Amino acid sequence: MPVSPTQAPPEPPPPDQFEIRFTAKADTVAKLKMVQDLLSHAVPDGNVAEVVDRALTALAEELLRRKFALTNAPRKRPDSPSPADEPAAVKRAVYLRDRGRCTYVAKDGRRCDSRRFLQFDHIHGRAVGGAFTADNVRLRCGAHNRLEAERLYGTPPRARDAGGARVDLVRFSGFIRSGADTRGTAT
Ligand SMILES: [Zn+2]
Repeated sequence: MPVSPTQAPPEPPPPDQFEIRFTAKADTVAKLKMVQDLLSHAVPDGNVAEVVDRALTALAEELLRRKFALTNAPRKRPDSPSPADEPAAVKRAVYLRDRGRCTYVAKDGRRCDSRRFLQFDHIHGRAVGGAFTADNVRLRCGAHNRLEAERLYGTPPRARDAGGARVDLVRFSGFIRSGADTRGTAT
C-alpha cells in the first residue's frame, strides 16, 4: 500500500527549533534530492529538516561504529574467552559508561567532559601490564590522554592540545616522573 500524502505528519515539531542556512554545492543538492526520493515512503513531503536529521543520525551511527565499535549487534569472535572481553565490547561498555566524554576530573572537582579527540586510555598502561578491559580503560580527550602518558612514562610535555580542553602542564609538573613505575599512583 502506498503511503497517502494526505496522511497526518508522523510527529509534531519539537518546541525548540532553529533555522539553519548554508550554501551547498550542486552535488550536495543532488544528493539531498536523491535521498528525499529514497525516503519518499518514510518522509512523503520530503521535509528537508526531517531528511537532514535522518542523514545526520545515520552518519553519527556510522562514526560511532567506526570509532567506538558502538553497534546494536556485536559480533562474537571465536578466540575470545568471553564476549565481555572482546575489544569491541570493552569499547562499547566504556563509551556508554563514560557517556562519550572525557572523564578527567580536575583538582577543583570539575570533570572535563570534552568530546574532542576522544581516545581509550589505559588506567594502568600497557607497558606496566594493564589490559584492555572495561575496568582498566576510560575515555580521555586528546589533551588529557597525553597528560596521562606524560605522567606515566615521562615523555616530554608537548605544547598544547590541538582541539579541546586547554591543559596547564605546569600545574601538573609534580606528577611527571621520568620512567617511573606509577602503578600505585594511577587513579
Ligand atoms: Zn579532557
